[in-house]
Amino acid sequence: MIDQYGRRINYARISITDLCNLRCQYCMPEEGVTKKDCGEILRLEDFFIIARNLIALGIDKIRLTGGEPLVRRGIIKLVEWIGQLPGLRDFAMTTNGLLLPLYAEGLKAAGLQRLNISLDTTDSDKYRRITRGGDVRQALAGLEKAMAVGFRRIKINVVLIKGFNDDEVENFVEMTKKRPLDVRFIELMPFAGQHEFAADKYMPGEDIIKRYPEMVAETADDPSAPARYYRLPGAPGRVGLIEPMSHRFCDACNRIRITADGQLLSCLHSRAETDLKPYLNDEAGMQEQILYSIKHKPITHRLAEGSLMERDMGKIGG
Ligand code: SAM
Ligand code: SF4
Repeated sequence: MIDQYGRRINYARISITDLCNLRCQYCMPEEGVTKKDCGEILRLEDFFIIARNLIALGIDKIRLTGGEPLVRRGIIKLVEWIGQLPGLRDFAMTTNGLLLPLYAEGLKAAGLQRLNISLDTTDSDKYRRITRGGDVRQALAGLEKAMAVGFRRIKINVVLIKGFNDDEVENFVEMTKKRPLDVRFIELMPFAGQHEFAADKYMPGEDIIKRYPEMVAETADDPSAPARYYRLPGAPGRVGLIEPMSHRFCDACNRIRITADGQLLSCLHSRAETDLKPYLNDEAGMQEQILYSIKHKPITHRLAEGSLMERDMGKIGG
């Protein structure tokens, strides 16, 4: 699918729940999200129908996200259904990792290919604070389990928070020297509900690279990927920067998002939503809606100009 600016759209991020077992300060309010009526959140079968239609239109990369995708009951079944769709080239999940000790093996067996694990600190007190109650040992055990069951090129997502984890950058970079992991530093984005948290804690990703003059830039294997990658000499893993604030990557954007209540967002930072729920039994109608929404995908976002996202990240899926 090609949008009106000539961008090829082949990547869908599907948020399968807006519930989460953590309450990261930059992502969700302390009380969590208001639980929606069963009728509002899609059934697993509905996500499968949407995935099938997206793939029929040329999407070949799907990422399951949330909220926390692993708190959704039946997740392994959904992975198995989607994983078998012909035409799917890349199938991944973003998770906070807490439930990976339980599910990593099943996910691998069901056909999930790749994992991104979010981990902003390895310090147990700081982890408890930023996630409002999480146990970092569980997240670290999740990472180990994922590696043990054979997930390769796992990506660790670290949201950069000034005054909170800037002193841990070195430890995270060090990980890439020892293990075949990509550590990606993500610039903090201001979301409507959480913008006070973000106000004075933003730091540009570029600051990290400046600390390592020996770091070498890698050529992008996928030009539409939002991360720029670097490698320390001889390191098995890479350091990535995701810089939505300082380096907009909208020109090469290849993605759309589906929310847990069935809305298609053609841009993470746009208010325009297309409701796919009415078309769950009408595949031609659904495909028409998807094509319309992609055609009208905005050219860029306006975060750096001070605009805020209406929905929190936990409701969109990152
Ligand atoms: N619960 C899963 C997790 O944490 O990996 C998946 C959903 S979470 C919304 C997806 C990603 O968005 C995580 O890596 C998280 O750190 C990131 N994220 C959430 N809020 C953010 C914000 N305000 N700025 C930058 N990244 C954010
Ligand atoms: Fe949950 Fe992920 Fe948001 Fe943290 S970033 S509150 S783990 S959805």
